[in-house]
Amino acid sequence: MTKTETKDRILLLEGDESQRQAIASESAKGLPSLFCPKPLAGLMEQVADAAARVIFLDEELPGDVAYELLSDIRANDKLERIRVVMLTSGNSEESRSKALAAGADEVLAKPYNLDQVMAVMDTVDRFHITFWGARGTLPLSGENSLRYGGNTSCLGLDIGRDRHFIFDAGTGLRKYSRHLLEAQGGKFNGRVFITHPHWDHLNCLPFFAPFFIPGNRISLMGPPQGERSFRNLIDGQMDGIYFPVTVNAFGADVTYGDMLDGQHWFDGVSLRAFHLSHPGYCLGYRIDHFGRSVAYITDNELGNIPPDSDFVERLAQFLQGVDVLIHDTAYFDHEYPAKINWGHSNVSSVVRLAHAAKVGKLFLFHHDPEHGDEDLDLKLDKATALADELGAEFECLNACEGDTWDVMKGEKIT
Ligand SMILES: [Zn+2]
Ligand SMILES: [Zn+2]
Repeated sequence: MTKTETKDRILLLEGDESQRQAIASESAKGLPSLFCPKPLAGLMEQVADAAARVIFLDEELPGDVAYELLSDIRANDKLERIRVVMLTSGNSEESRSKALAAGADEVLAKPYNLDQVMAVMDTVDRFHITFWGARGTLPLSGENSLRYGGNTSCLGLDIGRDRHFIFDAGTGLRKYSRHLLEAQGGKFNGRVFITHPHWDHLNCLPFFAPFFIPGNRISLMGPPQGERSFRNLIDGQMDGIYFPVTVNAFGADVTYGDMLDGQHWFDGVSLRAFHLSHPGYCLGYRIDHFGRSVAYITDNELGNIPPDSDFVERLAQFLQGVDVLIHDTAYFDHEYPAKINWGHSNVSSVVRLAHAAKVGKLFLFHHDPEHGDEDLDLKLDKATALADELGAEFECLNACEGDTWDVMKGEKIT
């Protein structure tokens, strides 16, 4: 199906005449690409005709038609490149959640000015990942960790202006915490998803400063283990014995939840969880948004699956066509026979999985703590050589601490 080509312009469907006029007169000073039509009839035709990249849509359009229009836009595959910003009359979490769940890409509270409209435009297509920690099992220090970083697993994911997700709380989370303190005084509203409660994925939670800052709202979720809820596992780690500060010291509004494998939606973003091959209940995550996708699969052992199991086929299906696959590559192939049932993968089985799943990029991640930067280089060489041999089209890369990637463009930003 041909997608409607969008032009880099804005269509403002605003029911409030004074707000519409204010923006129209501001934009007349030098922003010709903003259209504020007065007649609000034939809305779907206006949307199709304008072919604007972004539509700002007043939730209070006369006749309560805004949500109907949003639903029509979302149901039309040809219009999938159009971003919709819902203009809400209240600044409440409730109106934001309602708009995002209905398929809006962003929310802007009234009254607003042109600067705020333009600020939304700057981030409306944002789908970024940042590697805050890329090592496995234990942090690494010393000169052999300087290029790829020495912190354990932590991945940041930012969608649009204010949807912030974190995957895992290894020591990389402290680096993110410091970044948030420096950039915005520790303000953070977002969601933390843990793959499983092994130390290298959980032990930095107490060092995440936003938990201690009043006004922040943070959701913390991960898989339960047997009868123990995820909340119970967090309380256990911060019970005053293993760590001196308990969760009672959190100043933020923190909510807890058990995560199970299957399809979930958070803030209008699709997140699917997959039960991995690892001791305990460990989940891999796949995030789909804006027609792009990222999969975060660690810790996971591909090499010792019983012959009668369809685990690898199901995982390849789960990962089918993903733009970015981040996968545990703890071992060289020659090391793996000594590490069977440790719950981690060797390089070649990961490359074969990526090939079967037709991924866009493969990031090697979560390395054996005995491996320094040079070993990571060597693993990357081996992964690339095998991908070439298989005739695979994806690019192999090493996840590097501090790097941010634009998933929409497939490019490294910093
Ligand atoms: Zn691990
Ligand atoms: Zn583990």
